[in-house]
Amino acid sequence: SPPGVPWRPPMEPAPGAPRGKGGGEALLGELEALVQDVVRTSSWWERHGVDCAILALSLLAVPAGFLSLRSENVLVLALGVIVLGVCHYTLTVKGSHLATHGALTKSKRWSRIWELFFVEVCSSFTAEYAKYGHVKMHHGYTNVLGLGDSSTWRLPFLNRYVYMFFAPLLIPVITPLVAVERLRKVELRSAVRTLGLISLGLYAHYWLLLNVSGFGSPGSALLCMLTTRSLLAHPYLHVNIFQHIGLPMFSRDKKPRRIHMMSLGVLNLPRLPVLDWAFGHSLISCHVEHHLFPQLSDNMCLKVKPVVSQFLQEKQLPYHEDSYLARFWLFLRRYEEFMVQTPPITELVGLQ
Ligand SMILES: [Zn+2]
Repeated sequence: SPPGVPWRPPMEPAPGAPRGKGGGEALLGELEALVQDVVRTSSWWERHGVDCAILALSLLAVPAGFLSLRSENVLVLALGVIVLGVCHYTLTVKGSHLATHGALTKSKRWSRIWELFFVEVCSSFTAEYAKYGHVKMHHGYTNVLGLGDSSTWRLPFLNRYVYMFFAPLLIPVITPLVAVERLRKVELRSAVRTLGLISLGLYAHYWLLLNVSGFGSPGSALLCMLTTRSLLAHPYLHVNIFQHIGLPMFSRDKKPRRIHMMSLGVLNLPRLPVLDWAFGHSLISCHVEHHLFPQLSDNMCLKVKPVVSQFLQEKQLPYHEDSYLARFWLFLRRYEEFMVQTPPITELVGLQ
């Protein structure tokens, strides 16, 4: 394995306090109690309403988007593409992400319905694999090499410019193909359902462009689908690598406690209005909070952010923050090291 990089927590354990495992668990417990207090005193509107309203608005704006593509006016056409593109990303990134975590509603049944709608119909992906890959692996083993290390985002055969500027445009085409490939591993019943729902989503989009927006040819409708579906593909790909890659990585057999794993291995970006809306706070300015409390909605992540950041800073634990542009230049400059080579493992001294 690559040479280890040591990381030593700065705080001295109190005399007689349990070291290592107990210490990490006690810290997390303390933080959980603080966050629980905020959640308990929040209204339904704050816990679920705000994010459900953003998703409902996005769904309601879809007909207006399709209708404005009928226009001869270039400005109205451009507006239609932007509305459809932003709505597509709000439903597929924010909607799918919150639905996969079950953060939209307390009801199990509705959670499942939203999961299938956002992940399979809107995003052309498989709900089963989204849950396994994102919730179980990425959240359960954040930055653990070979498990939740974001390596699905690494394409070492591409050079830095192709990866950062052109690869995102292929995301709408690659996503359903990856989904179909993953279907070999699920049972027949859910594979048939997934195929049906993905086809329904893609065909409905195509049909609406021909019959509501009045596109004259299949080619122009497909080109429009590709354009709206890749409108925010660049920030989507970038954000996914900026948040974890380049931060400490851990080995499978010396996995740190959750609070250290998330404090060391997750990064927050500053607030960015379009991305806050379309991807959600949990993926932009509250990614650390989201990794510690994945069941919270975007709006609640934003609400508990001061509590979490103050707690980590008080305990002298890392709280990584960096700007989009700074990360962008860093990844262009150190692409080889971050995206091609195997990252070095960080050893947590005195914590295992
Ligand atoms: Zn998540």
